[in-house]
Amino acid sequence: MNDILPGEAEVWEHFEETVRSWLRSYGYRPMRLPIVEPTPLFTRAIGEVTDIVEKEMYSFIDSLNGEPLTLRPEGTAGCVRAVIQHKMAAQHAQRLYYFGPMFRHERPQKGRFRQFNQVGVETFGFSGPDIDAEQILMGARLWDDLGVDGIKLQLNTLGQMDERANHRSELINYFEKNADLLDDEAKRRLYTNPLRLLDSKNPAMQEMIATAPNLIDHLGAQSMAHFEGVQQVLRDAGLPYTINPRLVRGLDYYNLTVFEWVTDRLGAQGTVCAGGRYDGLVEQLGGKPTPACGFAMGVERLLTLIRESGGEPVLEGIDVYLVHQGDAASRLAPRVAEGLRDRGIDVLFHCGGGSFKSQMKKADASGASFAVIIGDDEANAGEVSLKPLRASGDRPNEQKQEQKRVPIDRIADEIMNSFLDWEET
Ligand code: ATP
Ligand code: MG
Repeated sequence: MNDILPGEAEVWEHFEETVRSWLRSYGYRPMRLPIVEPTPLFTRAIGEVTDIVEKEMYSFIDSLNGEPLTLRPEGTAGCVRAVIQHKMAAQHAQRLYYFGPMFRHERPQKGRFRQFNQVGVETFGFSGPDIDAEQILMGARLWDDLGVDGIKLQLNTLGQMDERANHRSELINYFEKNADLLDDEAKRRLYTNPLRLLDSKNPAMQEMIATAPNLIDHLGAQSMAHFEGVQQVLRDAGLPYTINPRLVRGLDYYNLTVFEWVTDRLGAQGTVCAGGRYDGLVEQLGGKPTPACGFAMGVERLLTLIRESGGEPVLEGIDVYLVHQGDAASRLAPRVAEGLRDRGIDVLFHCGGGSFKSQMKKADASGASFAVIIGDDEANAGEVSLKPLRASGDRPNEQKQEQKRVPIDRIADEIMNSFLDWEET
């Protein structure tokens, strides 16, 4: 679990702003969900035989009432609970998103943490392939907005439960015949969740897995039409993709479309976004049958990519550092600062006294564009001194502006005008 300190936290804020305006541009609406939920919600939603439920959840007993609780390992289960509880999908289909920390007890490594953040996007009440395709196209636009490239789309379909059942027996058959090649985990899952064996990262099993029976051969016309419908939109949009028959996802609740956005620039933890359709989950958790589709992005992995692509935002210094010394000056200074903030100018107010010289040193080090300097002399005249701090560096062709005296009611205009001039040059 990591601390995110100033310097890095601003990059997070910039990321969040980009993500929010991207989601708004598709008409998705925010929701804020609890971090703790009753444990059975996750075991029912995610499935007993999954990595998450078997070994990754931070679960505990509420000592006040004995209730089993869990720090959310993902967002979809809680989101579905809320949608059911507040009858959100009864009248209208919903496009929703949320953002925040998730908790999984994993072995920490590059791109894998015990507290990590996801942006989760979910829709309820849309059954056609158009919404699956919309969510995939959204991803492509976000990578663009964030200035990262090289994130590739992998696509698959998991069909419907009955189709998977046919495939399942054939798959078990195949794995039984290759039992000597299975590792312990695979053996354990063979009869509970054989589909997950396809997802194994064990190099020794890859060759055998590559020739396992394909689910797609068991799909009926409806499932195939849905899959084709998604692909049609992607082709029309000119978005390249790879069909990966081994893409089965770690969670149990998916059907039909599944997709992942993957990069080869993050080593083994290359999936930055994963999602798909989960039409059965709302009913499974006690709601009315409601088609649903969603995806989750791993924020830490995306930020690493942004950093490596050089797409980090330049951290801007504050507009004004306010220097003040003397009794009259120090009484006037807070009002000057608030007046500037009224006009939308950001002010770092010097606290803690000290000589002009030492305050000016701090002003220089602050990265501020201007020092506003108030001594008793200025205070008594109803003026301040305005000193540009980044003149020569930022505008090498211009002469460094000198410090000048400005009446208090003119100072905001002076600063704004300078900003406009600087933008033009
Ligand atoms: P993996 O196969 O990497 O364990 P997963 O199937 O468990 O992934 P999901 O539950 O689909 O992952 O979560 C969606 C996304 O959240 C992942 O693609 C990844 O970007 C991110 N993510 C998942 N687990 C972690 C973690 N422990 N640390 C950081 N990011 C994570
Ligand atoms: Mg995992």
